[in-house]
Amino acid sequence: MTTAIKAPGRRLERPLQRALGRRAVACAFAIGFFAAGAATAQDRGTVDPQPLPPLAKPDDPNTPAKELFGRKTAAAPLQARTIGFYAKGCLAGGMALPINGKTWQVMRLSRNRNWGHPDLVRFLEKLADQAPKTGWRGLLVGDMSQPRGGPMLTGHASHQVGLDADIWLTPMPDRELTRLEREEISATMVVAEDRKDVDPNVWTPAHVQVIKAAAQHPQVARIFVNAAIKKALCRDAGSDRAWLSKVQPWWGHDYHFHVRLSCPSDDHECTGQPVRPAGDGCGKELDHWFTAAVLHPKPSPTPSKPRPGPKLADLPAACRQVLLAP
Ligand SMILES: [Zn+2]
Repeated sequence: MTTAIKAPGRRLERPLQRALGRRAVACAFAIGFFAAGAATAQDRGTVDPQPLPPLAKPDDPNTPAKELFGRKTAAAPLQARTIGFYAKGCLAGGMALPINGKTWQVMRLSRNRNWGHPDLVRFLEKLADQAPKTGWRGLLVGDMSQPRGGPMLTGHASHQVGLDADIWLTPMPDRELTRLEREEISATMVVAEDRKDVDPNVWTPAHVQVIKAAAQHPQVARIFVNAAIKKALCRDAGSDRAWLSKVQPWWGHDYHFHVRLSCPSDDHECTGQPVRPAGDGCGKELDHWFTAAVLHPKPSPTPSKPRPGPKLADLPAACRQVLLAP
């Protein structure tokens, strides 16, 4: 749980101001069926990130892989390829999305997670280019992958192979955000207080158009959003509905939507996932998301233990070369 705060003395664009006024309650289940760490997409960063201390025994086979991949600050200089599954793999030849484009800005620079397969970088540039047609000036891009992918010390269970990206549900403002703002401002919470629908004061037709534009790209395998957002998309889509089949309700996506690309066609070490069932997914299959048990789950009587996550040996063998590359 985090509380959004104001960046001191900065004038923010209206949508950002609105977001800052709301209490940010984030439950960051990433897409891998468990949460990798306590940090959420809305956690603030710092303009002065400190390097992690070196590991005492980096060769110890019991070292969690996140401790190894979390310490890599540059890509593995190998041919670009995705290795493994979105929630259990790594990335060779990663490419950074430039932190500023005409129609995008990267947020939370201290995390150094603006890396991806070149296909993902090109996809984001294309989508950002389409943003002005949707009514947004551009995109604010959140986490992609670490330079070499792999498990992360905080925040996500997926985003490991360079094919996942989080896009804020906040339009890019008409100026370049400062470094401090990129660490401290919160994205827009679009889900209503009762969790049963979107907040009509915040949700706009442009939100629908941006998500639709992403879903219509043939490379996109899935888009994850909060169930209340899926419900709103179902209502607002009109007669052109085929794209809705790619939009999957999932926990934690109240402030951003998560785009997942299919495996690049020539990447034989990349494990895809089954395509979503045909149909818009707007009928009864949405109902269970709005039951009391899902909306207000009972807290577990025993506090959940932090999970160390996979070790290097649990990842595909090629991830060792990715890690050891100079
Ligand atoms: Zn995500």
